[in-house]
Amino acid sequence: MSNDNINVFQTQPYRWQGIDELIYKNEDGNPSFKDVTRHKLFSENDPQGFEVRYFEVSPCGHTTLEKHEHIHIVIPIRGSGFCLVGSEIVKLEVNNLLHVPSWQWHQFRASENESLGFMCLVKVERDRPTLPTIEEINKLKENKAVAEFIRTKN
Ligand code: MN
Repeated sequence: MSNDNINVFQTQPYRWQGIDELIYKNEDGNPSFKDVTRHKLFSENDPQGFEVRYFEVSPCGHTTLEKHEHIHIVIPIRGSGFCLVGSEIVKLEVNNLLHVPSWQWHQFRASENESLGFMCLVKVERDRPTLPTIEEINKLKENKAVAEFIRTKN
């Protein structure tokens, strides 16, 4: 959707009128993820503009472990979970604010017993995520807490 929709109604909790559920990510580059949905809520028609997405991760699900140049501004609005940012594991709670800086490894995980839903702000024009090599995964796993947290195919 674009800016010409002044007001969009919520049709049920965490779902909005005319906004379809999208595939979280295609399998390009063999990313690893589990039980994630994506909704594109707002996107400016300007490449320099902003886009707001809503992601929902089911209990025990996770997003892809990735890094990229563009930043994320994340606002959890449902449930709870955790996010790896760099080498830090951050607890995500509703209405907290999370900043994922440029080129920091990040991966979101929902709690075991509730979904994690979060708004994520990005620039419209942004680089593609980079996935970790086996060497990079091994390096990340030198940190014990990170090793226990991350979910990858390798
Ligand atoms: Mn990302």
